[in-house]
Amino acid sequence: MGAATAYHLLAYHPRLAVGVVERDPSYRHSSTVLSDGNVRIQFNLEENIRMSQYAMSALDDFGDRMTVGGWRPEPSPRKQGNLFLTDAGGQAAAEQGLAKQRALGCEVEWLERGEIAERFPAYAGANYLGGTFGPDDGSVDPNAVLLGYVRRSRADGAVFIHATATAVSAKRGKVLGVELDDGRSLSAPIVVNAAGAWCAELARTIGVDLPVEPVMRTVYTMDTEVDAVGLPSVFLPSGLYVIPEHGRRFVCGWSQPDDPVTFDFTFNRERFFDLFWPELGRQLPVFEALHLAGGWTGLYEVNRLDENGIIGEWPEVAGFFLANGFSGHGFQQCHAVGRHLAELILGRVPSLDLLRLSPQRVLDHQPVYENTGRII
Ligand SMILES: Cc1cc2nc3c(=O)[nH]c(=O)nc-3n(C[C@H](O)[C@H](O)[C@H](O)COP(=O)(O)OP(=O)(O)OC[C@H]3O[C@@H](n4cnc5c(N)ncnc54)[C@H](O)[C@@H]3O)c2cc1C
Repeated sequence: MGAATAYHLLAYHPRLAVGVVERDPSYRHSSTVLSDGNVRIQFNLEENIRMSQYAMSALDDFGDRMTVGGWRPEPSPRKQGNLFLTDAGGQAAAEQGLAKQRALGCEVEWLERGEIAERFPAYAGANYLGGTFGPDDGSVDPNAVLLGYVRRSRADGAVFIHATATAVSAKRGKVLGVELDDGRSLSAPIVVNAAGAWCAELARTIGVDLPVEPVMRTVYTMDTEVDAVGLPSVFLPSGLYVIPEHGRRFVCGWSQPDDPVTFDFTFNRERFFDLFWPELGRQLPVFEALHLAGGWTGLYEVNRLDENGIIGEWPEVAGFFLANGFSGHGFQQCHAVGRHLAELILGRVPSLDLLRLSPQRVLDHQPVYENTGRII
């Protein structure tokens, strides 16, 4: 979010002074590099659909736009499609989403259970009615996107500062800058909080209370007996999802209500055997036999108000902008959010109407939900 915002600011205003404070330039714990890289059109909220449409077009020529010298990032979009399976409880939301997506020009189809079994025999199962299939959804390499924005914005003039921002400073309802752990103070009339799972800590330093928590999310890699080639990613009605990688390898993840709120990155192997595998085998019998190859743990920055991004200026502190709380779908939104923040900061007319996702809704306690009722 930070690097994408820097890129868009400088694309609009090449002489602007832009600094990006990053405490760990290896990005080891950043949610972006620990994400699954899934990009999907299949949302229920118009704002999220439009952000994904923009992401897909931005990714088409991303490599060209981000080339610096002889270096060209390769986000390698893989449009294997996403298949969202639906049971009776989820059908109304699925239909509503499908209608909205189609009205916005997206190609998404409804497949009956029999059609799914015919087209994707590996995903034949008894416990769903059918599913929505978005052929344009797919996976993108998060490292390439992150490095693309970092290197391009740096080449365009952004200064990357290796330090921890310990506090934002503000006076009489106006932001003044940022305090760093090396003793420096940066003065700036605009500060963007793009601190991911750590955003609430930083906002608290000027008394801004964000409803965002760091939530542990473990992803598992599985070697199976199923050929991954040609299969879409599949999302079960429970929210558990499986992404085909290569050969017979798949990745799976599942948000749970009791996922720990923590900054701990420990890999929880037992949870796969206790929870994930039984659900997977029950729903899709081809996964009854598999080998857990490994996995990793990252943090979701969960917005407890409504699980959607909080995007824009905090109404009570002029100059304090937020790109926070994306709750599992922030990687794909960095293009649209970076552009949107740059437009707001520079006083341009926003390309997308994201007003409903602005921070005002936090102060008003007005959630704007996706319709699925669960975090993916
Ligand atoms: C396991 C997992 C799977 C996911 N899968 C997907 C997916 O398939 N599709 C999707 O769209 N999204 C996915 N997400 C969500 C997505 O990764 C995030 O929403 C998104 O990457 C957030 O980007 P960000 O820039 O806000 O945060 P980050 O990438 O975490 O960046 C924040 C940066 O701020 C730095 N920082 C924090 N505090 C400070 C400070 N005080 N001073 C200096 N630097 C600081 C951190 O070091 C970090 O580099 C997934 C997330 C996880 C954990």
